[in-house]
Amino acid sequence: MNRVFSNQKDGGILYIVSTPIGNRKEITSRALDILSSCDIIFSEDTRTTGILLKEYQIKKPMLSCHEHNEASVTETMLSYLKEGKKIALTSDAGYPGISDPGEKVIKKIIENGFPISVINGPSAFLPALIGSGLSTCPFYFHGFLSSKSSLRKKELEKLKSYPMTLIFYEAPHRIQETLQDLYDTLGNRRLTIARELTKIYEEYIYTTLEEAKKLQDLKGELVLVLEGHKEENLPDKNKILSILKLRLKEENITKKDLAKEIADIYHLRKNEVYEWILELTKTSEN
Ligand code: SAM
Repeated sequence: MNRVFSNQKDGGILYIVSTPIGNRKEITSRALDILSSCDIIFSEDTRTTGILLKEYQIKKPMLSCHEHNEASVTETMLSYLKEGKKIALTSDAGYPGISDPGEKVIKKIIENGFPISVINGPSAFLPALIGSGLSTCPFYFHGFLSSKSSLRKKELEKLKSYPMTLIFYEAPHRIQETLQDLYDTLGNRRLTIARELTKIYEEYIYTTLEEAKKLQDLKGELVLVLEGHKEENLPDKNKILSILKLRLKEENITKKDLAKEIADIYHLRKNEVYEWILELTKTSEN
């Protein structure tokens, strides 16, 4: 066991600082204090952090810490910490270590017994989950799936039976393929796509995997929040339509009652089921 107080008077410390995921005003005054008062900032991209620092008139020496130099940079960080320096780590957006470089560095610093303190701020997955309208607890955060379809499907097979809400990050150029693989592997489920959070075109798309596969305009930064495995996840629209067709033959059921009953069973929106009933009755009248 190793118990390490973060707020020690003297000695080195690593501050892991969350930075804006879009709107540059979304940074805490504590984060700005830390960035202003630390000795040096290690950042994923010194240009991106530089723009942020300029906006808040902070001048600080910076070194880069990215995916490819994490191992060697850790040694540099350790030598600063041994000299008693206060160092900060930032990524391009959100928290370092969350689908961003930082995890290895942080592990090493902890192993070496130095204190760390995480300075809270934005991250993309929490607002996506909270605004998803899906169950917020328990949830499972996956980050990015593999970029190769065969590996992606293998990863998804493992998640198929997870009952908790699933959260994925995805890039716009891969979103169509990923939505197709999600649908093929997990079946139809409720899905919320949180797009461009904190930016001008921030949008929450409340949909299903079946519907979302057809979306052609998914641009910008995206988080996918997907309903976990349930005894009865959403069946395909075709399956519901055939159930409705059969049930409409019953004499003593109104369209409204049928819509409510089916919506309750399959966790669908009543209005949506009602529209499907209207579609069916129209086609059968023609
Ligand atoms: N470290 C970040 C965090 O704490 O959320 C994640 C960085 S990861 C390299 C970038 C991915 O995060 C994007 O591809 C997208 O899936 C998600 N993301 C980041 N900013 C976002 C935003 N403003 N709106 C929606 N998703 C965002």
